[in-house]
Amino acid sequence: MADKNNRVIEIPARLTVRELAQLMNVSPIDVIKRLMYDGIIATINQTIDYETAAIVASEMGFEPREETVAVAEEEAALAGPTPLWERLYAQEDPANLRPRPPVVTVLGHVDHGKTSLLDAIRQTDVAAGEVGGITQHIGAYQVEHNGRLITFLDTPGHEAFTAMRARGAQTTDIAILVVAADDGVMPQTVEAINHARAARVPIIVALNKIDKPTAQPERVKRQLSDLGLTPDEWGGDTFVIPVSAKKRIGLEDLLATILLVADEQNIRANPNRPAVGTVLEAQLDRSMGPTATVLVQNGTLRVGDAVVAGTVYGRVRRMLDSHGKPIREAPPSTPALILGLSDVPTAGDIFEVVESEKVARAIAAQRQQEREAQAARPTRLTLDDLSRSIRQGQARELNLIIKADVQGSIEPIVSSLSKLGREDLKVNIIHAAAGNVTESDINLAIASRAIVIGFQVTVDPAARRLAENEGVDVRIYDIIYELIDEVELALKGLLEPTYVEKTIGKAEVRATFEISKVGRVAGCYVLEGEVRRNARARLFRQGEQKFDGPLASLKRFAKDVREVKAGYECGIGLEGFHDIQVGDILEFYVKERVAQD
Ligand code: GDP
Repeated sequence: MADKNNRVIEIPARLTVRELAQLMNVSPIDVIKRLMYDGIIATINQTIDYETAAIVASEMGFEPREETVAVAEEEAALAGPTPLWERLYAQEDPANLRPRPPVVTVLGHVDHGKTSLLDAIRQTDVAAGEVGGITQHIGAYQVEHNGRLITFLDTPGHEAFTAMRARGAQTTDIAILVVAADDGVMPQTVEAINHARAARVPIIVALNKIDKPTAQPERVKRQLSDLGLTPDEWGGDTFVIPVSAKKRIGLEDLLATILLVADEQNIRANPNRPAVGTVLEAQLDRSMGPTATVLVQNGTLRVGDAVVAGTVYGRVRRMLDSHGKPIREAPPSTPALILGLSDVPTAGDIFEVVESEKVARAIAAQRQQEREAQAARPTRLTLDDLSRSIRQGQARELNLIIKADVQGSIEPIVSSLSKLGREDLKVNIIHAAAGNVTESDINLAIASRAIVIGFQVTVDPAARRLAENEGVDVRIYDIIYELIDEVELALKGLLEPTYVEKTIGKAEVRATFEISKVGRVAGCYVLEGEVRRNARARLFRQGEQKFDGPLASLKRFAKDVREVKAGYECGIGLEGFHDIQVGDILEFYVKERVAQD
């Protein structure tokens, strides 16, 4: 067989999973497993597009090339990169597709009224009243408007939305961006817009709190226009609907607009096939056992169906709708609480109906094994990978998330980085904002295969853990030109990372303090050199190393600081390590990239 690392295969615009497996001379099961990890559930005879096949092929060590045959125009259009849900339905024969209710998520800045709006909309529902108004909280609900259904996901906020996407699930068709008319566009409004755009989900703006005397709707519309969301009354293509969640104003308008946008999007699915969808929420109920709210995205789920959800399997024993009413079947876009699973699945897992419980169990076991193997080797994109694939002529774009200390630093960084792009190699800034790198940034990076670039910021501990577990490349810089330089080198395919450790200072622990919620921190005296907030530390006790890892905090007089020089005292917390004792010695080091020339 040819060199394993360089096997070129020609892939047609569309082919079945079996054909792809044959091209690579591997088992179709391996291809199915690979697809699953990319969030796509496919059967052996299912047709997939080139884009999907190429990803699978390169993940399996092949070099994919698109087969150069004349393709019909509509097929060519299909071959472009498409969001997951489109792919899910694109593989269906169009003749089998029927309109389905749109699935809506509510995003926006804190306190702008996301929860209030979801509650108010839920109360417009007549069906809820019929069963006595007691609705089961299952993570999603449906309301009826003019005889048509709309599904609302009940976990507001872009954090939850992107965390789902990071796990490979694309559930949302339309995003409602709630902006308080008295407060206007705020940092999380911008963040929400970027997250929705990265997912290529259309945005409808709900201009909330319109009842307030301090409301300034025109001002908010101007702010939205500046962000590229020009209201349709001003000739743009964003619907901006004035509402009051509190006074129930404009809700009907909002629902009608959702249906209008849904029609434009041509939201469809095939109700006549085994169900596939996403786990929205799951828990262990004392009396009912493991329960899961699933969103059926394609096909129809029925009581008695054998299902596999991530690494969990079972048979649907009972099914409840969002009103707590037992149902026997759930067509596309229906959220349903299901009972009968072997264990509690994870939110964001894909579920699907298979032919028997035995098959379900086998798939679940196989996935468990794959997951364990996957955990051992992170597969996300890093700047070094990018550099390598550019050298090999494979990469076509670089997605970046920029976090900087202050708003003023963002503009020069974004404009310099954008300029580095070329026609054949685009630089996409998916999100840029002031503030530390958060968990939500990392999830966005996972969902968009992006690299996180930080300028004079720190990485939140939870974000760092997630980035390390998922292998997301987070690069923090203190000097702008170094930042630009490194991205430029990567884009030229020249980045060959070599890091050396450099010790920068030493400190002695002279006292320890217990701080509630944080744990034990060390009162230190810096003996030599300096300690930096973003350095790593080794803790030695009588010459024996007890810890090696990042600092959790660096303070002087209760104030967070970036560095402390020799001869000064400071407070130091160590990430995940609390067994600090007086007399311990801390050594600080940084990893520095060695210059290439
Ligand atoms: P979330 O953080 O975005 O979920 O915001 P909430 O739904 O919790 O609302 C934040 C605050 O704004 C609460 O005190 C609500 O009562 C208030 N609020 C929400 N919608 C409206 C509205 O339309 N008008 C007025 N006056 N207050 C509202």
